[in-house]
Amino acid sequence: MQFDELADPEALPVPNAVSAPFFAAAAGGELVFQRCARGHAFLYARSLCPVCHSTDLTWESSAGRGEVVTFSVVHRPPWNDLPRPVPYVVALVRLDEGPQLLSTIEGTEPGEVRIGQAVQAGFERVDEAVGLVRFHPVDTARS
Ligand SMILES: [Zn+2]
Repeated sequence: MQFDELADPEALPVPNAVSAPFFAAAAGGELVFQRCARGHAFLYARSLCPVCHSTDLTWESSAGRGEVVTFSVVHRPPWNDLPRPVPYVVALVRLDEGPQLLSTIEGTEPGEVRIGQAVQAGFERVDEAVGLVRFHPVDTARS
């Protein structure tokens, strides 16, 4: 799923040596996360594992499925000309693979978002180096 023109040009991430693979993958429609040699999986991008401090890290591809851990409905954007409609939902999403990330929930009314709701990653491509991960609800029931 593709989301267009939600990104605010003034607030786009600036990839660095550590985070560039994450944003480049998202630009290509893929959600990736890091895993250390001892098996700890995490986001956001770091130069060492937040659990065991290993620097032996690899990137893995996520299936993009997860659930809403918690969320907030934003009625007043951080600045008046934010190029997206309000209200919108900012959520903490836990991927099936374990890592968690903050994102937005798209394609649904804010009042319909629930903790525990199943979501699937979608992507907003800014350019070849930067893509943004956003989520939308999954209709199918989860076991
Ligand atoms: Zn670790």
